[in-house]
Amino acid sequence: MNKKNLAVVGYGGMGSWHVNRALKSDCVNLVGIYDIKEDRRAAAKAAGIYAYESLEELLADPQVELVTVAIPNDAHRDMVIRLLEAGKNVICEKPVTTNSHDLSEMIEAANRTGKLFTVHQNRRWDVDYLAVKALRESGEIGPVLRVESRIHGANGIPGDWRKEKEHGGGMMLDWGVHLIDQMLGILPGKIVKVSCECTHIRFKEVDDGFYLTLTFDDGSVGTVEVGTCNYIALPRFYVQGKNGTAIITDWREKMHVVRDLLEVPSSVGATPVETAAGLTKTMAPRTAATVESWDVERPESDVHDFYRNVCRAIDGKEEQIVTHRQVARVMRVMEAAFESDRLGAPIAFHDD
Ligand code: NAD
Repeated sequence: MNKKNLAVVGYGGMGSWHVNRALKSDCVNLVGIYDIKEDRRAAAKAAGIYAYESLEELLADPQVELVTVAIPNDAHRDMVIRLLEAGKNVICEKPVTTNSHDLSEMIEAANRTGKLFTVHQNRRWDVDYLAVKALRESGEIGPVLRVESRIHGANGIPGDWRKEKEHGGGMMLDWGVHLIDQMLGILPGKIVKVSCECTHIRFKEVDDGFYLTLTFDDGSVGTVEVGTCNYIALPRFYVQGKNGTAIITDWREKMHVVRDLLEVPSSVGATPVETAAGLTKTMAPRTAATVESWDVERPESDVHDFYRNVCRAIDGKEEQIVTHRQVARVMRVMEAAFESDRLGAPIAFHDD
């Protein structure tokens, strides 16, 4: 593949990740970084990486074809527009920005300049997500009625700017953007209703977690939950189909599926469970003879396919995987979620 010359703006946590990946890439060639902080530029130089002394120097460098933006969320819009207007193709870190209005200006700049503009939704390559998406598409457990997706941690909100509203902090914009993007990749319907409650267990200024419910026009429901004060984690994914159930307890685990053997008479039934208050057969586990169960091998995935797609899309050989329409839809869902939280009520959603 004809390698694209890449520069990275922002050499913090995620910028370093992009740099380290780029140094081993088969599709991009790292030409340098720019960070507003001198100590980060010095760190790059110490690692043998060229550091632009100013943004202007980077913008004026004709060898730079592609720029990845990895700076705090509130700074994405201005940086992306400046880069596009300087004739660069741009990958922006998630969340693309903090509101739909800014995003529409970024998309307009991309359309005006004819340059590629996409967002690093790298969690589309997570194997747990890919397993659930494939299960829904296979129909193996019948129509999927409900998908629960969650991330539970107990380390609070990380970093400095992530705790501050003016920088686009909070867990909705940090993790929610990934999990909502994934949910819209799993469930195919149009969203008709959004209901959300944000949590402020340890942090007042921004959400340190949330419970979000998306209702789709085919009746399916997706719930997305992020917690940063959960010392015992609930399953990463729980999927309810008409004829079966799947679970991924932890993102290091395989998916486990249990499906009804519909042809076995239900009279084979279940052995009643004795509880303190009496017997229950309704809530007893199904006997092995009436169901089949299996583990699903974790799918193959290479997150660098994101960069490979971007490089081919620049050459017009592929459509970009993360589209403007998709990122705009996720942004609208997040805005609706905040609005539902503010009102304390579900709100109607008019999907594209
Ligand atoms: P960070 O604080 O570790 O690093 C940000 C860097 O940007 C700092 O070095 C800072 O000096 C620099 N910076 C700030 N303003 C700048 C400007 N105007 N020009 C140049 N440099 C500037 O933050 P981070 O964790 O690396 O997050 C950066 C972005 O990456 C955020 O948008 C975040 O949401 C995203 N991110 C994405 C993932 C993912 O999995 N896709 C993971 C982590 C972070």
